[in-house]
Amino acid sequence: MDRQNENKMITINENKKSDLPSVQPPTGRFAPSPSGRMHLGNVYSALAAWLCAKSAGGKFLLRMEDLDPMRCPRKFADLILSDLEWLGLTWDNAEIPYQSERTAVYENFYQQLAEKNLIYPCFCSRAQLHVADAPHASDGRVVYAGTCRHLTPEEIKQKRSRRSPATRLILPDTTICFTDGHYGSQTFNLARDWGDIIIRRSDGVFAYQLAVTADDALMGVTQVVRGCDLLSSSAPQIFLFRTFGYEPPCYLHLPLLITGEGARLAKRDKAADLGFLRQQCPDPEPLIGYIAWLLGQLPKPEPATADDLLSFFDAKKIPGHDIVIPGNYWEKL
Ligand SMILES: [Zn+2]
Repeated sequence: MDRQNENKMITINENKKSDLPSVQPPTGRFAPSPSGRMHLGNVYSALAAWLCAKSAGGKFLLRMEDLDPMRCPRKFADLILSDLEWLGLTWDNAEIPYQSERTAVYENFYQQLAEKNLIYPCFCSRAQLHVADAPHASDGRVVYAGTCRHLTPEEIKQKRSRRSPATRLILPDTTICFTDGHYGSQTFNLARDWGDIIIRRSDGVFAYQLAVTADDALMGVTQVVRGCDLLSSSAPQIFLFRTFGYEPPCYLHLPLLITGEGARLAKRDKAADLGFLRQQCPDPEPLIGYIAWLLGQLPKPEPATADDLLSFFDAKKIPGHDIVIPGNYWEKL
């Protein structure tokens, strides 16, 4: 490989089989966005992350991703804590970080990007971003065309007087390779698959990608277990870990829970809402056992505690495809 290509390739865990992490025991985490009550999909992700960390003798940390406090009132975070306790999914950090209270932390990381000349203001309106000929990533997301990357200081000054800009992160033509603990070898090109992403919104709120990387880095997270809708997000996050001088964690992405119609299980599905489930089912064991069965850990859905599953949990048994949840599944709990 010549020097030029060498600079453009970031590879982590390249020689490892599709298996769980190099750092043992791992530090895992669950980082819900408290914009509503937990639903079946959150419980499934939380249980999987808890089992991956705890079965390997590791720690399990909790964090609240309430970056946008308008959408995330504290009552939902309190309900999540109560639901996790009810489920028996204990966490090891006495202090739970709330992203809404960590603006100063993100400001510090943001300044590091500014010092490296990796950010620039973007004045594009929503309509400008979604023009018909905008380039798209393979999953349909609009890739920013880089319109504002080359504005002169004079143009920026002029535009600033009319509207406050968002800030974008320059994502270079770099290929990120990593081995996912479930989906195996992954390759993404930052420029092609992501383009320059918003790292701070025009209202000053820091973007998810910045906050999640800063928090995982500072919390010492070495194992990230989450839904496969976030698989490609690992690429800009690995780039940010490297840029901030941290080792990226190992990733394990989970198949999604979907309805019989093939749609992703959503918060609005009442039968998936934990408030509803707790009314139907006063004890957590049938629900934990059902999800353990979905995760391939039990031959049939039968009541179990999270602790019961620790001794035989095996991430390799998690199904390789998305998992269909029948609409009436809760009647059998
Ligand atoms: Zn722009």
